[in-house]
Amino acid sequence: MRKGTQEASFIDEQRILEALDAGKKYSTSDVLDVISKAKELKGLELEELSALLWVDDPEIEEEIYKAAREIKEEIYGKRIVFFAPLYVSDYCVNNCKYCAYKIDNDYSRRKLSADEIQEEVRVILDMGHKRIALEAGEDRVNCPIEYIVEAMETIYDTSSANGRIRRINVNIAATTVEEYKMLKDAGIGTYILFQETYHRDTYRRVHSGPKADYDWHTTAMDRAFTAGIDDVGLGVLFGLYDWRFETVALLMHAQYLDKTYGVGPHTISFPRLRPAYGMSLRDFPYVVADEDLKRIVASLRLSVPYTGMILSTREEPALRDEIVALGISQLSAGSMTGVGEYTESVQKAIDSLRYDEPPQFEVGDHRSLDQVIQDMLPHGYIPSFCTACYRSGRTGENFMSLAKTAHIHEMCQPNALLTFEEYLCDYASPETIDLAKPVMEKALSEIRPESLRKECEKRLERIKSGERDLFF
Ligand code: SF4
Ligand code: SF4
Repeated sequence: MRKGTQEASFIDEQRILEALDAGKKYSTSDVLDVISKAKELKGLELEELSALLWVDDPEIEEEIYKAAREIKEEIYGKRIVFFAPLYVSDYCVNNCKYCAYKIDNDYSRRKLSADEIQEEVRVILDMGHKRIALEAGEDRVNCPIEYIVEAMETIYDTSSANGRIRRINVNIAATTVEEYKMLKDAGIGTYILFQETYHRDTYRRVHSGPKADYDWHTTAMDRAFTAGIDDVGLGVLFGLYDWRFETVALLMHAQYLDKTYGVGPHTISFPRLRPAYGMSLRDFPYVVADEDLKRIVASLRLSVPYTGMILSTREEPALRDEIVALGISQLSAGSMTGVGEYTESVQKAIDSLRYDEPPQFEVGDHRSLDQVIQDMLPHGYIPSFCTACYRSGRTGENFMSLAKTAHIHEMCQPNALLTFEEYLCDYASPETIDLAKPVMEKALSEIRPESLRKECEKRLERIKSGERDLFF
């Protein structure tokens, strides 16, 4: 453990095992009681979550899924917020067994220059995105914090015909309070760090390099809060260890943050192990089945109703569409997961170039953003590019008090309509525009109170007349 590092004692393996054991003994009527409790939107205890994870009756499973859909819609409405990842550097000094960027993989590494970042951002903007998740490997020499801060400045400064990126979430290695302060000053949205696995022995087995320090990694969010970052995103790389253990541990971490800082995780992500250069899924005995992933997402939606839940393009389209219905509130789309790949993909389409470096992992959903939107509109979802909370100071406790009382959808729905209208004016295909009309009309009619709906109508007209970046 690094000198001065706090021990991550809030992840208590014995308590997790006890909760798993207790949940296994719940009767059908006990589980139905848990589902009823979850519908009150107050969240669940570890043991209750565990009971949901052990259910093997398809009818009760369907009840869990139904409740997950209801809870997501009660808190966030039908909106799904989109973002794109941007990989700026694949230098990495770690040797994580599951990742293409591990130091043992021999290929020519690079980080993007400011000009290259601008090119990447323009490709992302021209798809219609307004949010970026900035990603980089860990290498304090080749990719120091100053480079990340400059990359953020470059991203915020880059404009395309119809605007700029409005929010940058950052996913970089665990670091110091001082460096988190630098990210805060540079305008970070959410600081995202996946735990990979909460199980200490597994963590030790799959990591080497500075990241192998479990306590340093697991207490990263404490340092981020100390630095003043109040939106943090958790996640597990499902497939490294037993999925039930990991799911209960995730809730334990979320509860700890909520209790300690008065703010639970802003988001939770559900990456699953994917094939990647230099690794084989055959070496990982805990690979998670599709049905299990659905259970994880739905059960966590019942357990931490106020938290945004993110699904990436790791998953195949059909499964993504199914899982979205179970409580997902944010999606990446049109993603490239290698350094410089957005620009290269444009180039590749022109002259059939091959990428020189491997992506961090293989993407499962290759649909364009517009195609994903077309596929979700018939289900009544409202695509959103909203960044309003972050820019209105609704972060941390301010945000949580709205989310926990299920009032946030009063903001989400009008903001989804305003930002989707921008998308329709600036980027959408004719097919998307046709599909969007009835969804927009219905969503507008649902906005309450009346005064808010009228104001939203006015702002939609202003957007159609050429104004941009209006929000509530
Ligand atoms: Fe490096 Fe992160 Fe990949 Fe590990 S998971 S090798 S730290 S980029
Ligand atoms: Fe997210 Fe806030 Fe916008 Fe809702 S209103 S989509 S919570 S930024």
